[in-house]
Amino acid sequence: MITRSPAFLQRHDEAKPLVTPPAWQAQLAGAIRDPAELCRRLGLNEAWRPGAEAGHALFEVRVPEAFLSRMRPNDPSDPLLRQVMPLGEEALTTPGYVTDPLAEAMHTPAKGLIHKYAGRVLLITSPTCAVNCRYCFRRHFPYDDNSPSRAQWEATLDSLRGDPTIREAILSGGDPLAASDRQLAWLVERLEKIPHLKRLRIHTRLPVVIPDRVDNALLEWLGATRLQKVVVLHINHANEIDDAVVGACERLKAAGVTLLNQSVLLRGINDGVDTLTALSERLFEAGVLPYYLHVLDPVAGAAHFDVPDDEARELVAGLRDVLPGFLVPKLVREIPGEGSKTPL
Ligand SMILES: *Cc1c(COP(=O)(O)O)cnc(C)c1O
Ligand code: SF4
Repeated sequence: MITRSPAFLQRHDEAKPLVTPPAWQAQLAGAIRDPAELCRRLGLNEAWRPGAEAGHALFEVRVPEAFLSRMRPNDPSDPLLRQVMPLGEEALTTPGYVTDPLAEAMHTPAKGLIHKYAGRVLLITSPTCAVNCRYCFRRHFPYDDNSPSRAQWEATLDSLRGDPTIREAILSGGDPLAASDRQLAWLVERLEKIPHLKRLRIHTRLPVVIPDRVDNALLEWLGATRLQKVVVLHINHANEIDDAVVGACERLKAAGVTLLNQSVLLRGINDGVDTLTALSERLFEAGVLPYYLHVLDPVAGAAHFDVPDDEARELVAGLRDVLPGFLVPKLVREIPGEGSKTPL
């Protein structure tokens, strides 16, 4: 590795044209997208290749370096690797596992807008994610139909303006923070002009998989808005939270953000009382409260991650035995047609 003197860096920075993309965008563009490379980098032998290629053909591999660096090499059972490693099992069809498990197609009144629950709307702010999680319930989501233009955003904003029951706008995706700060600032500037809107919520995994995403440009628009701010992170295992992630959480908190986390209960990844306890403890060290523990949505290609309901209830009972109440996430399922998440 080449070390440069601070003076050199400074001159280098000054010479940079204003259009230099932020560091996180380069990391996003440089994410691993090749199953063979993922296997090679983690020291997985050739036997993993065909399955990885088959899964990748269904839902492409995407793993940023910052996330990869937290995995143990030569360990196919690493809990971070298993979240992102495509497998041949993804090609199996399982009764009850479908492409749109949450029937979101039925609740899309405008392009990029999902309104299922009273008082809050979900805005599909970016069609892409920084990481492709194999269990993702939107792995088949028709993002091409849900990528609104500015004019369509204006129409969506008009519909929010006309509905005083909406208190909260939730930026979702994909990963909303995969959008540029310019786009996000544009949107938030308009949202905060809607008088009945009180809260801005952002559901994102980017501060976890690329902690550099929480940079000054992001903190500028986020810190400036009059809306109350909640960021719901998505972390499934304590090993995901390294010092860089803690730093990102600290920066968000300093900007006035309430930090929550949602996890998905995943076979072979976090389906143990000790593992989930360590996750809650580590989250709180980073200043994050556990919010939801979701059972798996029955999305085609992810059946091998399923944990039966009875086992899920037992796990959470086990958490209640050892953790303070505020570190026990709510165990929920999303059932299409229901007005909220359903407690198990
Ligand atoms: C999960 C979800 C929300 C948020 O639900 P909360 O219980 O408030 O966290 C809102 N809209 C949609 C469409 C959702 O799927
Ligand atoms: S970050 Fe969230 S939306 Fe994106 S692939 Fe993972 S689970 Fe799906």
